[in-house]
Amino acid sequence: MTPRPAPPPVDRAAASRAAVAARRARAAVKHDVAAKARTARDVLDAAWSDPQSPEATLRVRELLTSVPTLGPTRVAKVMNELGIAESKRTGGLGVRQRSSLWNYLTAREGGVEPTRLVVLAGPTAVGKGTVSAYIREHHPEIHLSVSATTRAPRPGEIDGVHYFFVSDAEFDRMIANHELLEWAVVHNSFRYGTPRPPIDAALAAGKRVLLEIDLQGARLVREEMPDAILVFLLPPSWEELVRRLTGRGTEDPSEQARRLETAKIELAAQDEFDYRVVNTDVAVAAQEVVELTAVPTSRP
Ligand code: 5GP
Repeated sequence: MTPRPAPPPVDRAAASRAAVAARRARAAVKHDVAAKARTARDVLDAAWSDPQSPEATLRVRELLTSVPTLGPTRVAKVMNELGIAESKRTGGLGVRQRSSLWNYLTAREGGVEPTRLVVLAGPTAVGKGTVSAYIREHHPEIHLSVSATTRAPRPGEIDGVHYFFVSDAEFDRMIANHELLEWAVVHNSFRYGTPRPPIDAALAAGKRVLLEIDLQGARLVREEMPDAILVFLLPPSWEELVRRLTGRGTEDPSEQARRLETAKIELAAQDEFDYRVVNTDVAVAAQEVVELTAVPTSRP
């Protein structure tokens, strides 16, 4: 058999122009999904009606990672559960994969079978407390866990509402009695823990539950309750985080420096989380977190 001749130079140039155009078209699709101009299901619709479309040549992983709030860890987990290989393109999915991906996205958008236990964590001073306070005020349908802590109340904080303020001995007793779902020493000073019985009761009553805890606590909850959804709250930028931390005025300069160091390490943990929410505007971030409490698990 004679080898096929190389395409003439003019064809090669045309082919590379076409490849560039296809890449641009795919980037535009991802951009639209990230900007919420199109949903992932709109894109799949287009992909499956025209196998030559840019949508059809987009990788499933890239499509899902463009969905706002879906982080790479969650995407990898979902694809694994749906049996879709890492390199699959939307147009190359088999019938079963198409229907399971479609059902996953439908359930996710429609709030079917909510996971119900959501953990909100993030670096220090990112505004977790403000976002959870907003949710406490505007979403009474969500059970916001009240942590136990050994630190003293700040002005305006109410025992049983913001925290259960307990003594060291009482905290020891709670640990010994296995009353805490998780606990940690935060900022090298006081102990904070999540009382388990109220959470079990709320979940049993069909309520959605939100925990606002630190990173160590989030990791412990994941071990204890693997179905929990972990949400990482991000600052709009590092500069803004520094501004929020130093502007709060509740810590002295050496404590501020220590917390900034901690924040740097904490930010690096964001990829361990299922979702990321950027806290530019408290009401918007709170709304996104609330929506995540209605996200279904992809498990059957
Ligand atoms: P603050 O003392 O400013 O109210 O809270 C300090 C930190 O403790 C925050 O990062 C908050 O998320 C964390 N925290 C509050 N409650 C808990 C809890 O029950 N468990 C863990 N691990 N951290 C908590």
